Amino acid sequence: MALLVYKFGGTSVGSAERIKAVADKVKKAQDSGNQLVVVLSAMSGETNRLIALAKQMQSQPTEREMDVLISTGEQVTVALLAMALHDLGCEAISYTGAQVKILTDSSFTKARIRKIDDAKLRKDLDAGKVVVVAGFQGVDELGNITTLGRGGSDTTAVAIAAALKADECHIYTDVDGVYTTDPRVEPKARRLDHITFEEMLEMASLGSKVLQIRSVEFAGKYNVALRVLSSFKEGNGTLITYEDTQMESALISGIAFNRDEAKLTITGVPDLPGIAYKILGPIAEANIEVDMIVQNIADDATTDFTFTVDRKDYQRALAILEQTCADLGARKVTGDNTIVKVSIVGVGMRSHAGIASTMFKTLAEEGINIRMIATSEIKISVVVDEKYLELAVRALHAAFELDKISA
Ligand code: ADP
Ligand code: ASP
Ligand code: MG
Repeated sequence: MALLVYKFGGTSVGSAERIKAVADKVKKAQDSGNQLVVVLSAMSGETNRLIALAKQMQSQPTEREMDVLISTGEQVTVALLAMALHDLGCEAISYTGAQVKILTDSSFTKARIRKIDDAKLRKDLDAGKVVVVAGFQGVDELGNITTLGRGGSDTTAVAIAAALKADECHIYTDVDGVYTTDPRVEPKARRLDHITFEEMLEMASLGSKVLQIRSVEFAGKYNVALRVLSSFKEGNGTLITYEDTQMESALISGIAFNRDEAKLTITGVPDLPGIAYKILGPIAEANIEVDMIVQNIADDATTDFTFTVDRKDYQRALAILEQTCADLGARKVTGDNTIVKVSIVGVGMRSHAGIASTMFKTLAEEGINIRMIATSEIKISVVVDEKYLELAVRALHAAFELDKISA
């Protein structure tokens, strides 16, 4: 008998028929002698619909009220699945995050899980019930409803698997595993049999939204056996592993991209100690996260400074930077919110030279101008104009022969 945590995403519970299909799958797993906790997302499109409704009330609703609102989508699906399971003669009980007691901090809309009370879950499992838990939500110490950030149901599932020391955590979605890149952008993308935690963490943080970043962090930290599979077709999906078990690891495992990027530049800044702090301090104080940073030295004892932020923070960052420009007596501020970031990821990069030059040559041959570059041990990211995103991803996919990795 194994203890399994299954998570089904929005499309997998997108209609009454699909919820019934999930119920069939869950019942089958239970009939084979397993204990099951099932974590669900809201029906696909529901969270977006709720956010759009909120915006009709107020342009910037408080985050606390947003969480009260957007956590409702998951309450609907868990109740429906429990009913569908009852209809199959299967004992099941649904819980919201607060009912389980998934305790989080109070950072509304991006809360972090602190502790999961497993007593209730264990009691129900021991009584032979399937436990259905609303993903994406928790409760803070004061009893406020919180949510875990977009895609947060993945994290609920992995955190429950960690708390219960489950044998496996399966993330069922609309693709049959983790691919070399988003198959919606490159149809030649290939499913990976396995990918290391390290690579998956990079892919997720560089924009591959197939798993929420925190779910991968959790799985790595608590040693959760994590697999991404399709809700619709049979198969082994992709296992997230510690070590690369392939005989010879691929140079590049995947390509990630992020469309939500914007960049800002301040030129003619006096080149003095403390300048980076003076420029980025006010941005940080406004709670705006900065990603890539480049500082150039000009000939005339001034410097140019460029950094990227999330597109949603672009206008605010621009206004702050213009104020800083005036305060510092710098030359001018420019910005661009039509840029994207494309990254290649692979642990194989560590031991191989020439990966970066292959990447740059490939982009040059396509006439794609690189606006910024950032590297780490296992990734190289470039910023390019958004109109080149698809072309860049496909050209790199071909150049690194990712369509040829044996799946
Ligand atoms: P769910 O609603 O099940 O959580 P998501 O939409 O959050 O599903 O995640 C699945 C989607 O992630 C896929 O449909 C795919 O377009 C996208 N995706 C992005 N990068 C990848 C990748 N490397 N491999 C697989 N899917 C990816
Ligand atoms: N429903 C939430 C979202 O759309 C959480 C999730 O699906 O994981 O982001
Ligand atoms: Mg998701």
